[in-house]
Amino acid sequence: MADSRTPPEVDRVAASRRAVAARRERAALKHDVAMRVITPQQLLQRAFDAPDEPAGAMRITEFLTALPAIGEGKRDRVLAELEIAPVKRLGGLGARQRAVLREWLDTRFPPLTPRSGRSRLIVLAGPTAVGKGTVAAHIKEHHPEILLSVSATTRAPRPGEVDGEHYFFVDDAGFDRLVAEGALLEHATVHNAFRYGTPRAPIEKALADGRTVLLEIDLQGARQVRAAAPDATLVFLTPPSWDELVNRLVGRGTEGDEERARRLKTAKVELAAQGEFDYRVVNDDVARAAAEIAALAR
Ligand code: 5GP
Repeated sequence: MADSRTPPEVDRVAASRRAVAARRERAALKHDVAMRVITPQQLLQRAFDAPDEPAGAMRITEFLTALPAIGEGKRDRVLAELEIAPVKRLGGLGARQRAVLREWLDTRFPPLTPRSGRSRLIVLAGPTAVGKGTVAAHIKEHHPEILLSVSATTRAPRPGEVDGEHYFFVDDAGFDRLVAEGALLEHATVHNAFRYGTPRAPIEKALADGRTVLLEIDLQGARQVRAAAPDATLVFLTPPSWDELVNRLVGRGTEGDEERARRLKTAKVELAAQGEFDYRVVNDDVARAAAEIAALAR
């Protein structure tokens, strides 16, 4: 006779599959935090919102060691200081524990605080393959009041790209001339390959006319703009998850294996720079992200 306390084989198989899937999802979430794709505070909020989902089932010990620069020793000291038992799961934390953990995270990983007195010059940057170009194109199409800056570049036009509309395509000597004349607000060599720069004059004119200007440039360029125009608004676009960023890079299929590995390494370094920005916007949906950025101009 079958033991009534033992679940049937099919149930056990399904349960173990669910457990494997949940473990995998927890691992992905920890990786996202470690790579700074999502903030520790965002992960915590997910756990509080849905205690039965993988984020909620994560142990506090796992959560803390997933944070950048927190090892086991530090973890145990923090748990003692916050008076949280190591066996606790995030979804099972009490109100006092949630509050002290949030407070500790905000000191250790300060949320972005937009500076006051920012201008209508918006810089959109973010890791490679996050979809900056798509979001910028969406803003150009749906928010015609915003001027999307057209950069100069030494790379060759891709099929369908129009000179003066997507880029100003110039040769090396032409680019040197723009730099020598001081015609560029910023310029950089991107992906160790071609040079890109932002023409200064159209931006100054549009800003003087009271328009909002959007620059879609790389991280080096964003830092130069911050130095040249400290009142610019810096927006960092993040992928919804690290896996999503990898998928986008692979899916694009425009780079070989070696180049792809190099770009992912660059993306990791770029993600670590988001603390320099005023806002972070998640590119989970192009139209939503574009609307969020366009609203920053108002
Ligand atoms: P793509 O060649 O794919 O159009 O662009 C490659 C990279 O160059 C993108 O990351 C884009 O943000 C960056 N980029 C485009 N224009 C500029 C620019 O004017 N200045 C800088 N610094 N980067 C740019």
